[in-house]
Formats: sequence, structure tokens, C-alpha cells
Amino acid sequence: MSVKLYSNEPVKRLIKSMISKEREPHSIVITGERGQGKKALAKYIAASLLCEAGQGEPCGECKSCRMLERGGHPDFITANANENGNYQVDIIRELVSDAVVKPNEGKFKVYLIPDLDRSLNTSVQVQNILLKLIEEPPEHCIIILTAATKEIFLETVISRVLCLNVLPCNDEECRNYLENRYGQYGDYTSKDFECAAAFGGGTIGRCIEYLEDKSVALAMDIAKLGAEAICKGSEYELLKAFFAADGKKAIFRRVIELLQEAFRDALILRLGFDKTVGCMPEMSAKLAGRFNIDGCRGICELLGDYINRIDANANLTLAMNSLAARFFR
Ligand SMILES: [Zn+2]
Repeated sequence: MSVKLYSNEPVKRLIKSMISKEREPHSIVITGERGQGKKALAKYIAASLLCEAGQGEPCGECKSCRMLERGGHPDFITANANENGNYQVDIIRELVSDAVVKPNEGKFKVYLIPDLDRSLNTSVQVQNILLKLIEEPPEHCIIILTAATKEIFLETVISRVLCLNVLPCNDEECRNYLENRYGQYGDYTSKDFECAAAFGGGTIGRCIEYLEDKSVALAMDIAKLGAEAICKGSEYELLKAFFAADGKKAIFRRVIELLQEAFRDALILRLGFDKTVGCMPEMSAKLAGRFNIDGCRGICELLGDYINRIDANANLTLAMNSLAARFFR
């Protein structure tokens, strides 16, 4: 992953100005949708702090920038969650005790704890363990947390951090980025880039996923068929669509996420806004014609509940059957 960052100019200017005034923020929360570039922004901030050129932005050429680009900088430490997204408290305790140790290379040590909203079981514990570090950070210590929304943070935490929100790119910025990154290999056509940009809805990470991961296109097909079956009121067709993902947990989870997004957009339309953000605008419009506000909201919650069940290793076939039935009760 490059240390360069596309778009988000206001955030970049803010970071640059803080660093040049030596008023570096010691605790940062980055919010934004999945794949929208929270980790890329965290890495950009780390690179800006650690760059040897000291310009308040990464030069991309010094030893530090190159180490970061290769993913092996000893002073940029990323905490790892388990496969369900939960952080073990021991890992966070270790991180806190490591944070008092001076940096290896430069002036700072940057810790990244990504996707704290996905750590459903331990999010609060993790924040409580980090609190002391956030209240009284050592001079060299910078801690960056990311999550989909601010709401998951404790008041004591959120009141002490610099809160940054990553902004989506427009379709043209996405296409330009993809053409720059992939165009030279000749594996993709400009039509592919267009589809990926449409799927990504302003989120570079999702565009990349669409291009690189064939299962995303499959999940997208299943979600579209599923949404059509829901509109038609056919439980049989919905189940048939779901079963294309039988035995493929990750794909079915993605299908549910896509459906949730389509219903969220239907809700947005129902509430009277005309701009949706997801990748199935036509389907969302159809769903908005069939479900009212409460219906859309209820289904979003229902789908969220099924995502949790899948994460908790529920039996996939049973989950498909019971979810399909819930739509037609
Ligand atoms: Zn540099």
C-alpha cells in the first residue's frame, strides 16, 4: 500500500499544519465506511509523522517512507484482531506497555487499532485499557483508532481525541486511481474500471475489491437476485439465490451486507433524500417502492442480526432458511 493518499485534501492540510507547528495530535479517531480508506489515512498520517524530510507530509522517498510502503516500519505498529474482529485484551495491554518504550528509528511511535466497531465483545474493555495512554500519552506516542462511526466510543475517549472523517471520492477520482494503479498491466478494460467505480460508490477499497476478488462479483449477483425475489415476494426465488452461496460463509456474509446497504439506501430515499450511497441504486429505488420507513429500518436491523449470527458461526444453511422465511412473515 502506497503512503500517498487520494483526495481528503482538507484532512491532509490539517495534519500538515499540526506537524509543522509541532502540535501533533497524540490520539486520533478516524471514522468512515468500510473500504473508504480509514487505514490508508492512518498510514498516511504515520508516514507524515515518521518521514525524514520533515515536511508534514510523506516524501515517498526517504528510508522511513520506503519502509512504510513495504509494510515493515518498526515504529508503525498495527494491532491485530481475531477472525471475528474482536481484540484480545491481553494484546491491547501489551501494546500499552510497549508504548512507553522509545521509538526505534525516529521521533514517534504510531499505533494503529483498526475497526474497533467490529470488536463487539471487547470494544469497551479495549477503550478502558487505552484510556490512560490517551489521557497522558508519552511524548513520542501517537495512537490511531478507526471505526465506522463515532458512536461506539466512550465519552471519556472521544472527548480527548482528534476526530477525522474520511470522505468518499467521486467516480472520476476512483476511475483515475484505478487506471493509474492497474492500467499498466493490461488485465482490465476501461469498462471494468467503470463497473468497479460504480460498485465502489466513492470507496477506493471497494473498487479494488471488486477488481481483485472474483467472489465480490458473485456476492453482488446473488444480492441482486435476492433483492428482486424480495420485491416479487417469492420466498422460493430468494432461497434459490441464497443457496448459490451455500457453504461459502464469507460470500453469504457479503450478500447480507449488500442487501443491508440496499435497504439502508431505500430508507434514505423513503426519508426524502434523493442521494443514495450504495452500489444498487435502482434496486434501492424498487425496495423503497415496496417497503415503508419502518419496514426498511426493521429489515436493516434484521440483516445486522444475521451478520452477527454468521460471525458467531451459526449454521449457514439454517441461517439462509430462517432469514428467507423472515422476509415473508
Ligand atoms: Zn519520507
